[in-house]
Amino acid sequence: MKLLRTTCGFAFLAKPLGASGVARDVRNCPLRYQPWAFGRLSFSRCWLHFLTGNSGERSFLARRFEVATHPVGASRPQRKQPRSVKLLACSAASETQTSLRTHVCGALRSEHVGCTVTVCGWAHTIRDRGGVTFLLLRDRHGIVQVTIDAASPEALRTQVKTIRRESVVRVRGTVRARDPANVNASMPTGSVEIAAHVIEVLNRADPLPLVLDMERPETGNTTTGRPGSGQLATTGASEETRLRYRYLDLRRASLQSALIRRHEATMAVRRVLDSLGFVEIETPILTRATPEGARDYLVPSRVHRGKWYALPQSPQLYKQLLMIGGMDRYFQVARCFRDEDLRQDRQPEFTQVDLEMSFVGAADVMHTVERVAEALFSNVLSEQELKNDEVLVRNTARQGLRFPVMTYDDCMERYGTDAPDLRFGLELQPIWSANQGEFNTAQHWHFFEALCAVAPFRGAETIRALVVPGAAPHTSRKVIDDYTQFVKQLGLSGLLWGKIGSSDGRPTINSGPLNKLEPTVAGQLVEQLGARPDSLLLVAAGSRPVVLGSLGRLRVKIAKERGFVDETDYRFCWVVGFPLFAWDDEYNRLTSVHHPFTSPREDQRDLLLTLVQRIREKPDSLSKDATLTQELLKLRAEAYDLVCNGTEIGGGSIRIYDPAIQSAVLSVLAISDEEQQAKFGFLLQALRYGAPPHGGFAFGLDRCILMTCAQAKSLRDVIAFPKTTSASELMTAAPSDVDERQLADLGISRVAAHEERIDQIDAPKVPQDSQETMPV
Ligand code: ASP
Repeated sequence: MKLLRTTCGFAFLAKPLGASGVARDVRNCPLRYQPWAFGRLSFSRCWLHFLTGNSGERSFLARRFEVATHPVGASRPQRKQPRSVKLLACSAASETQTSLRTHVCGALRSEHVGCTVTVCGWAHTIRDRGGVTFLLLRDRHGIVQVTIDAASPEALRTQVKTIRRESVVRVRGTVRARDPANVNASMPTGSVEIAAHVIEVLNRADPLPLVLDMERPETGNTTTGRPGSGQLATTGASEETRLRYRYLDLRRASLQSALIRRHEATMAVRRVLDSLGFVEIETPILTRATPEGARDYLVPSRVHRGKWYALPQSPQLYKQLLMIGGMDRYFQVARCFRDEDLRQDRQPEFTQVDLEMSFVGAADVMHTVERVAEALFSNVLSEQELKNDEVLVRNTARQGLRFPVMTYDDCMERYGTDAPDLRFGLELQPIWSANQGEFNTAQHWHFFEALCAVAPFRGAETIRALVVPGAAPHTSRKVIDDYTQFVKQLGLSGLLWGKIGSSDGRPTINSGPLNKLEPTVAGQLVEQLGARPDSLLLVAAGSRPVVLGSLGRLRVKIAKERGFVDETDYRFCWVVGFPLFAWDDEYNRLTSVHHPFTSPREDQRDLLLTLVQRIREKPDSLSKDATLTQELLKLRAEAYDLVCNGTEIGGGSIRIYDPAIQSAVLSVLAISDEEQQAKFGFLLQALRYGAPPHGGFAFGLDRCILMTCAQAKSLRDVIAFPKTTSASELMTAAPSDVDERQLADLGISRVAAHEERIDQIDAPKVPQDSQETMPV
């Protein structure tokens, strides 16, 4: 607006004063009218200077707007052309004007024809086409073609040929329309080019160690500032080289696009949460270690010799303390750190959109989270899609949630995971279970007996099936062997299979080991499973968690391989009703499924206290009393995870705000009273001074961005400076050695040099599936 007012002001001024003149190099103008200063002068100040200034200033001001109306090399504008419009086009396009440039490369359009502009950027390509040289100049906003032809000064024609790719170049010239034959419709600036007057190489680049993409000029959006999203795997450089020269890799359109997408999403989240009364508060990075979750990154204290800070795995306790401090609604785009074995989809430092609210129940938090999810996924979830999607229920009443809600048990039963991918069906189907109450026992026993005659299923805890529609004719033995290998790696002993054909118009198993079933039983089984002709039947037996887990993974593998997954679809769901505790075989004790500050379901709080009383009376009952353990395992948490397309994108819970319950949960986790005081004394004490009921949630931001950037393949594609799978940063060579003096300051001495990679030694416990992305 400021610019518009100023420009229009000049348009108004120019006419009565009859200003005229020719543009000079702006560097020759009086200091206070240098472009950077000019941009900031108010209209009234310019007017004052015009009236009171010396003749040099007056003529500069006159020239300054005349530059806009009569650019060098352009014929006088036609009388009929509205002058103010022309002035607007030629003035700097936006806040991106600086003392070095008038426009960004991607901003130039046909309305700029006739304007003299100065642009800066990287020499993307230089092509010599016999007498005409095209220099494509690139900045984050796009690419513009600079043309040097026979009409250009000889010196310029020679100079342009010496420019190296990726050198930083500043060009002043006149925007002109391209010949119709040369218009490039797929390039936002494709209807114009700059006829160069002056080219300055601000910094000459050495030949690059990696080849950058060439696709960029074809796309790009100067309104959003988002560059194009070409397929940029064509760099040909290894990922190692790209990470080593990350600053060069960052020039690629896809990386810039992902970072801009990330910025937009973060800004949208901030706007939503601000509008809902949340306050953004930073919490400490140097904090104290907590005994749960992943391994901490530790920082030695110089002042307190022998003591250590820990980097936060999440701001969990601080956000709870903020609620006790009366802040009511907190959020933070928080950096979190976990020192653990990394995989393709993990980073040792990552970002959470973290929030906490006071005086809430689970539904209140879930409502808020849905608003944030919409902001995070706004570029892939249009309002239209939300309305039309049959699994997404429009949130008309305050109590209604937009995303469907499933219980943990239901998810495990139907999808074999607590993070189900709902973009396709292929649900797991029950055939038999040792647990009497679980299925229709008469019919299932019947199947069990029959299946045991085909395979040694006697010791199995459960038998489940996967019915793949239409797969029978296209599934070779080799493919079935591949499926079998896949589930064997996940702990199953194998798969029973059968292909469904039809006989007398009725579906029946006509090949595979299941073909050995007696025809009536086979017919009943097929009917029970709802299998149609051409379906492939896959049956697994074993312990319940292994059968569900491996069939669940096989379900996703098959769906992806057979193209059942619509990659443009986004299916969200809430998962609730998680157990409060899980059994940890490795440490032979109970652990928290979410984290130790998660509240048990309201109606089970007293039961927890009673069970813990038994532990207090007989401390060894925790390891010895199997019924006590079973009862504790049955307790449910007031926790909720948000899942999208089979990925947990965030999780949260209602927190414990009663010190007695908090202490009880810590006792179940085998943390003695003394240890509780030593490690959590501050929390237990705070809970005694008026802690409000509160709850919260945290989104894994990197993961959400990854899911919404089609061209991003790994978390490394959505993080500016990511780490490798061995937690190193190749560009700066971190982690690095430090000198003896620094170690001495910290009171640390070397014991022995060891070459082993830290992440190969004593690998930290990998939490359960549900916890993988969400630390405490
Ligand atoms: N701090 C938790 C986590 O990172 C999220 C929450 O409960 O709010 O898993």
